[in-house]
Amino acid sequence: MRPVLGIDLGTSNSVVALCQGGKVTIIADEEGNRIHPSAVAFLPDGSVLVGAKARAGLAQRPEQTIISAKRLIGRRHASREVAQTKQRMGYRIVDDQGGVALKIGGDVHTLETISALILRYLRDLAENFIGHSVRHAVITVPAYFDDNQRQATRRAGQMVGLEVLRIVNEPTAAAFSYGYGGKRSHRIAVFDLGGGTFDVSVLELGEGALEVLSTGGDTFLGGDDFDGLIANQLAQAVEQYTGRDPRQDSAAKLCLLALAEQAKCQLSEEESFELDLSSIAGVPMKTSIDRANFEAAIKPYIDRCLTLCQKALDEGLVHVSEIDGVVLVGGSTRIPAVRRAVTRFFRRRPDEGIDADLVVGVGAAMYAENLESPSTATSKRVLLDVTPMSLRLATVGGFCEAIIDHNSPIPTERSRLFTTARDHQDRVSLRIYQGEDDQEDGNTLLGEFVFGPFSKALRGEVQISVTFAIDSDGLVQVTARDLASGQAAVGCVNLGLAQEPVQQKQEDLPAAVKR
Ligand code: AMP
Repeated sequence: MRPVLGIDLGTSNSVVALCQGGKVTIIADEEGNRIHPSAVAFLPDGSVLVGAKARAGLAQRPEQTIISAKRLIGRRHASREVAQTKQRMGYRIVDDQGGVALKIGGDVHTLETISALILRYLRDLAENFIGHSVRHAVITVPAYFDDNQRQATRRAGQMVGLEVLRIVNEPTAAAFSYGYGGKRSHRIAVFDLGGGTFDVSVLELGEGALEVLSTGGDTFLGGDDFDGLIANQLAQAVEQYTGRDPRQDSAAKLCLLALAEQAKCQLSEEESFELDLSSIAGVPMKTSIDRANFEAAIKPYIDRCLTLCQKALDEGLVHVSEIDGVVLVGGSTRIPAVRRAVTRFFRRRPDEGIDADLVVGVGAAMYAENLESPSTATSKRVLLDVTPMSLRLATVGGFCEAIIDHNSPIPTERSRLFTTARDHQDRVSLRIYQGEDDQEDGNTLLGEFVFGPFSKALRGEVQISVTFAIDSDGLVQVTARDLASGQAAVGCVNLGLAQEPVQQKQEDLPAAVKR
């Protein structure tokens, strides 16, 4: 049987695992580390480091070391998220035709290339371990990743010759790893707070099926935000002491973030932590931070996680008392205040057993085996997932009609009728969005294509059926059909990153047909 890797391509760290005969092996590097930093460093001599070696040189090479690239993949340069990330990173983030690229020295690298380098590193580790080549993988992504981000992840795999058999949502993989189910059905919540993202999913697991009831989250909430809070506090302390703001210097800024992360992790074990800031202040300087202050500072973030948990329960039509298990995923769930908040909210202690850093990779490997040979896999299950965001079509007047609602089970296909907005209009511009806003502006553009020319008629007489289909990877395809002539066009949203909207005449947009 061909080996299929389970890969958790994380914001901060990645895991690669293989499941054979129900036994999962997490693949380590030559130092024995099973968790591999998602870091890539471009050295002046042209060589490239990936993983722990790249991460170790971050302080010396902030401008050449890429970390947290997953925060940028599939995003538009003009987005709030990219602006925030620019503040925090030592490397240069540049505009690439509306998308994002990284400029290191004289070279420009796409985000797919960075992910591809990490995937190649993980695949090479696996090949060394197995002793022969590996060509197939299941890769996990946050449930809240939109179509652009999923496509970019898939392309990264293809760039290194990995056929991505399935893109699986991280919480779904986590649930898979726990092997819930059996005779009795269980409802579980997966609470995933990592470095860059927060995801929550409510799942029902029974004999033979794993069904995602609802999912929610925030693609920009995680441990990096906590580091930023501590780093700011430290910078203010240095400024008060020396009269100079260390954040003006990019190397010092990164150094502060690294110290902040170290302090944050220590505060998960200890009540207070003393830091030596001399190298940043330029004079001898020590300061300490304590857990109580840290917990008070991150409370708004924890509260936001709980609000999103309640929303996911409501949308899955599940009462908190019906939850049989809570699975914690992601390094930030080690923070005692997060664990306490989760325990209080779900009225039960989270499940322990599999390390929160490994649980997604383990689940991805188990899922991969299930996919390849359902008859031999330990947990022979059908996976029923949902789409995390509504899919919409822009119509005249700046509106955005939902065609597939968020939390719809996938794969799915839905059609709606549209018409022309003016007399003798012979084409329509179909702009496809993901998001929850009825106005075009509040959603993420996935792509657009022009359908036509079709026979001219009076306004409202042409009937165009638009069908949105989402496959089991969460990837989107759109078909438009002129009902009078039968003429049809398929616009795959397989466009990668959506470009700036082509300057379409506003009147080329379709009009919704009143239902
Ligand atoms: P992940 O994206 O799941 O790899 O999680 C990485 C995040 O977890 C980073 O922000 C880490 O700083 C954070 N993290 C890892 N270990 C701890 C810890 N012991 N306490 C608090 N945060 C941690």
